[in-house]
Amino acid sequence: MKITAIRLTRMVLPLDPPFNAAWDPEPRTSFPATLVEVETDEGVTGVGSGDTMDGFEAYEHLFIGTNPLAILNQVRRIETINFHGGRYWPLEAALWDIIGQVAGLPVATLFGGARDKLIAYASCGELKTPPARAESAIKAKERGFKAMKIRISRDHLEEGVAAVRAAREAVGGDFDLMVDLNQMWRMSGDIEPALELAKVHRLAAQLAELNVRWLEEPLPQSDVRGAQRVREQTGIQVSGGEMVRSMPEMMALIEADAYDIYQPDVALSVGMYRARQVAETANLKHRAFTPHTWSNGLGLLANLHVAAGVDAGPYLEFPYDPPGWTPERRDFFMEPLHTDADGYLRVPDRPGLGATIDYGAVEKYKI
Ligand SMILES: [Mg+2]
Repeated sequence: MKITAIRLTRMVLPLDPPFNAAWDPEPRTSFPATLVEVETDEGVTGVGSGDTMDGFEAYEHLFIGTNPLAILNQVRRIETINFHGGRYWPLEAALWDIIGQVAGLPVATLFGGARDKLIAYASCGELKTPPARAESAIKAKERGFKAMKIRISRDHLEEGVAAVRAAREAVGGDFDLMVDLNQMWRMSGDIEPALELAKVHRLAAQLAELNVRWLEEPLPQSDVRGAQRVREQTGIQVSGGEMVRSMPEMMALIEADAYDIYQPDVALSVGMYRARQVAETANLKHRAFTPHTWSNGLGLLANLHVAAGVDAGPYLEFPYDPPGWTPERRDFFMEPLHTDADGYLRVPDRPGLGATIDYGAVEKYKI
């Protein structure tokens, strides 16, 4: 089998009203996504998404005529480009979609097949007032979620803790809360200093009192010792690694026992094939793997297949913060993914990734 064409379709969904993500400098009025379609000489087409694939056209020729089923070679090829250009892991997702279709199996089965569904947590993106966050936590619980992750801004720590406290008081003790400080990587242009370790330590102690399940990316990637001190001295679990750029970096973090939970996004960080090694190495050391999934529905689906295959957990991230961020906005160019009444996200029971692309929406929003 040979790859005959790689088609990129860039789309933009207007957001009206805008979405005010904690990590964005200004409210977002639009949401970009790129659909990758890989065509083969045998008529099988695979789809992937996640990163924007900016600049990929310069490297496309390296893949045309190669075997999509020789996945390790394809992963190595993408890694060589990752050094010079962008992170083109959505292409790997499209190749796994082809492999699954050829095998007649869901991709999750090829990754170990441990589970056919995973319990999800509602992953919030907006900075909301304490009453609004409490209300959103109640609604998420009513919808079947068993856990929620709340973003705290380094510029508004007290308000953030107040929002977590309000959510805890609203939902009670039998609902997991996590907190994300987003200090391990930066949006382009963000050159403000990271929080001091002492402040992070105080924050972690407050969150531990509120029975927060894990504190995510509280410190820069280089401060491994700081992350260990926070864990040792407050008892809170620390997670991280969602955007780590390479396997050597990721494996060095695991070797250093930087975190309790490792979260490389298979569509943005180290890819799908390599994420299995991250999961297995972490698990061998009695540490956890559960991927970041915050891109779009197809990126979420790639993460779901790997995570279900390798028995990831605790929980799978499900980007969800209505009314600003809904499955319909997140998955605007495909049939939206929804959790069930018990808070589970099910692996589609179809060969490949099992996405249903809405080509009408692709046509409508393409640029
Ligand atoms: Mg995060």
